[in-house]
Amino acid sequence: MSKKVLVLPGDGIGPEIVEQAVRVLDQVNSQFNLGIEHESALLGGAAYDETGSPLPDVTLEKAKASDAILLGAVGGPKWDGLDMSVRPEKGLLGMRSNLELFSNLRPAILYPQLADASSLKPEIVAGLDILIVRELTGGIYFGQPRGIRTLENGEREGFNTYVYSESEIRRIARSAFDAARQRNKRVCSIDKSNVLEVTVLWKEIMEEVAKEYPDVELSHMLVDNAAMQLVRAPKQFDVMVTGNMFGDILSDAAAMLTGSIGMLPSASLNEKGQGMYEPCHGSAPDIAGKGIANPLATILSVAMMLRYSLGEKDAANAIEKAVSDVLDQGLRTADIASEGSKTVSTSQMGDAVLAALKA
Ligand code: NAD
Repeated sequence: MSKKVLVLPGDGIGPEIVEQAVRVLDQVNSQFNLGIEHESALLGGAAYDETGSPLPDVTLEKAKASDAILLGAVGGPKWDGLDMSVRPEKGLLGMRSNLELFSNLRPAILYPQLADASSLKPEIVAGLDILIVRELTGGIYFGQPRGIRTLENGEREGFNTYVYSESEIRRIARSAFDAARQRNKRVCSIDKSNVLEVTVLWKEIMEEVAKEYPDVELSHMLVDNAAMQLVRAPKQFDVMVTGNMFGDILSDAAAMLTGSIGMLPSASLNEKGQGMYEPCHGSAPDIAGKGIANPLATILSVAMMLRYSLGEKDAANAIEKAVSDVLDQGLRTADIASEGSKTVSTSQMGDAVLAALKA
């Protein structure tokens, strides 16, 4: 049976970078005989302009019927004045909630060729390849009750609820262990079990799920130590799994270890393994239409899609190797250019990745 991919170019640099990523997808599709079919739909500001909604019903229908979704980025100043309910970002959030994309996979990979781009010493980060698995639809960002109330003495008090059910923990644990099986088979679960009961349960369920994965090694670390270790010796990690808030913070810190936002892909998965794949960066309106955006994060998102939703590890590896080869050749888009490198445009970078795939 053929596999269906929905392509959502979105706004700003979205269409430019997605165009290159789709060329790469088409290339591996024929090279590896994958039988993938893809079609495009509107999301975000582009969808609002055309239909009055940032997430048209037809886009959602197509998304539900697909095995995976490839997204560029949404948003831009053109739509900043719109009512919150129709802002481009609403389209993205609507996709996440409608498809129940609870597992956010954020790799932090630093190609040795780009080690100088990091703010850390090259020997600490060169060759870094870690994956942060963040729970995306629960925890303190969604827990009830929440709000700001006035106490009897007239003072106001803000409050939120940090809550995770066993089933929510179990499914994110499985997502992390499954991802680890595609990598180096080590999961480090991040908690604050010395203070927070919710993460005592988190830790307990992680141990329980680990028994289903005897081939994967589980360890635990407190979140404050994890933050220190990420900047002290980040290469010690393979997969880190954590809740929504800790993951939000740790994944941004890990992203910055790599020094270039134009290189980082991401995935959001649901229980069926269906996923939405997108670069970590936004729509970069400041450079949209100039042909200088870095398409590599989106191209690497295609590799993630092949690995995590479509079960095509060899094709995923081939794309990642092609990207590495292109960097070896000294080719760089402007955002990652350095002394001695050759600066190329968005489409030239796409050409180079295609050539490396065919080589
Ligand atoms: P941004 O990531 O779009 O841009 C930050 C900086 O990084 C800019 O200087 C930009 O030129 C540069 N940059 C980003 N991607 C690049 C690439 N591929 N190649 C070269 N340079 C790149 O973040 P922002 O400026 O805060 O947000 C711009 C718009 O994107 C906003 O409307 C925001 O809401 C939206 N946004 C969307 C998503 C998403 O769709 N998932 C995520 C973040 C921001």
